[in-house]
Amino acid sequence: MIFFDMDGTLAKFYYHPQYLELMYEQGYFRNLQPYKLADYANNLAASGIPVAILSACIDSPYCEQEKRAWLKQYLPAIDENHYIFTRAGENKAEAARKYMEQFGEECKGSNLFLVDDYGKNLEQWENGTGDYRYFPIKYFNGINGTKKKKYKYSFKTIKQFEKLISTRFWVK
Ligand SMILES: [Mg+2]
Repeated sequence: MIFFDMDGTLAKFYYHPQYLELMYEQGYFRNLQPYKLADYANNLAASGIPVAILSACIDSPYCEQEKRAWLKQYLPAIDENHYIFTRAGENKAEAARKYMEQFGEECKGSNLFLVDDYGKNLEQWENGTGDYRYFPIKYFNGINGTKKKKYKYSFKTIKQFEKLISTRFWVK
């Protein structure tokens, strides 16, 4: 299963200098522009690859509903059952494990990929628990990556991502 983060990975979240305040306003999440990666992720899902959304929501009445509407517009091939929303600061590996457990024995031993722009989420992913293998994949979106941290799996362009997943594709 490939899990995609939204803010800063599928959606251009940081483009407005006042995003920290604006994100609490109605329409902020709904009107974000997509990265090309959104289209690519949608195509993966449409071609039958197991894809899920794993995104944190802030404490705002608009956030989750607007993210759902945004996903329906830009990634229509992903089923709503594959949306996982966490609270900001929650461990994404834990949320993914709980999500996978609903599929029971059949999915034990699965490879779980997280495509995310945020290092802390990827670190936690690396230490995910349960009967799964966790592969963190860093997306360099042109804004992040200022700490110069090295990642085993990372990409900047769609081409690089394509190569990465075609050579490491043990998804089940
Ligand atoms: Mg993000």
